[in-house]
Amino acid sequence: MAAFLERSCPCCGSAQAIPEMQSKPAGEDVGLEGLVPFWEGLRKERMFFTYARCQSCGLLYCPRYFTGAQLSELYANLAPNMDIVPSAAIAATQRGYWSAVADSVVPGGYMEIGPDVGHIVTPAAASGKFGHAWLFEPNRAVHDVLARSAGTLSHTISAAMDDFSDVPDGTISLAVMIHVLDHITEPLAILRQIRTKLKPGGRILIVTHNEKSLLRTVMGRTFPPFCLQHPELYNPETMTKVLTTAGYSGVEVQRSVNHFPISFLAQQAGQTVGLDLSRLPLPDMAVGLKLGNMLTTAQP
Ligand SMILES: [Zn+2]
Repeated sequence: MAAFLERSCPCCGSAQAIPEMQSKPAGEDVGLEGLVPFWEGLRKERMFFTYARCQSCGLLYCPRYFTGAQLSELYANLAPNMDIVPSAAIAATQRGYWSAVADSVVPGGYMEIGPDVGHIVTPAAASGKFGHAWLFEPNRAVHDVLARSAGTLSHTISAAMDDFSDVPDGTISLAVMIHVLDHITEPLAILRQIRTKLKPGGRILIVTHNEKSLLRTVMGRTFPPFCLQHPELYNPETMTKVLTTAGYSGVEVQRSVNHFPISFLAQQAGQTVGLDLSRLPLPDMAVGLKLGNMLTTAQP
């Protein structure tokens, strides 16, 4: 059986952590081969590495997780765009993230890690506030669409996710990471690297799940962010801690709004209790809900 990574807290380095949430069986007891179908979403049962609470800083993280080599292989085989939420709803949600910072962004460069097709790049480019966009998107299949989203804004697209050395230090006025930070096993390294790219008055914008949200309390073990793709999960306090540890200041956290079509919400609710509502006629109107996510901004 291939060995998994053994790690201490990725925020503070402490090795003292108390297990808090486990699947049955726990991911670390299944072995790499057995986890692949769950990683690819082919199995519907819950399966994830045990989440433990750091006794020093409070971060919820997996003390055992995939190694870097295992992750490269897993992500390479993952079909892109597995999102089950219809794209109009995703676009509305992401426009909301841009709206949260649009008025206060200062002129400078734009940088986004994991922009996907560029839902935020489009309004950012249209705002006229940015001189150049640096876009780091590992999924090469969307690079053409991403380039179109940038429109006339000059841009550089790269498939790298951990090397931003081409971006000139101290030039970026907005760095964006939407549902990226909680996929990364060494968050401090990426946050520190981004910080060197920010200019005075610039900001980082991060959207993640909130493991202390009402949704998590209600759903317990079935809270979707408990999954193999998340080596750690944040709450407002631990997000503040990881950012200040990486050297940021002025951290602000707010619950963010997600847009879902009513029909989608009803079907998800039906699945939770074991009903198939997919053939019921339900409205496609989207509703905005403050569910299990949070939006964080911070200054270099
Ligand atoms: Zn810690």
